[in-house]
Amino acid sequence: MHPARRVRESHMMAAIRSTRRGARRTARPRKAARPAKMVRPALRQAVVRAAAQPPQQVLYRICKPGWAVIVERTPNAQGTRFVCPFCPVSHRVPGPVRGFRKMRRAQWVKLRRVEE
Ligand SMILES: [Zn+2]
Repeated sequence: MHPARRVRESHMMAAIRSTRRGARRTARPRKAARPAKMVRPALRQAVVRAAAQPPQQVLYRICKPGWAVIVERTPNAQGTRFVCPFCPVSHRVPGPVRGFRKMRRAQWVKLRRVEE
């Protein structure tokens, strides 16, 4: 073997090692921070909207014992008819229906009845 050749080989090895290390160092981008910042403003807006317009809801007693209908109060409320899930008749309430709720009997008895 020629002494010069050995030197060249060792140089090459060193070069390969150094490039590998360099690649490892640069391959770490910071990712974690951004998505969280994007979400926050939307959440705040939703909270503000909910506070500005509290949907006032009233419960009415319907034909089925223990069940109440949730009616949303609107400023200029006209009578709304909804198809009752518990009987074949439709009932009339003063606003848009938002759902139904099962209640304890003592609470349910106190509620106003729906018309018809
Ligand atoms: Zn009914």
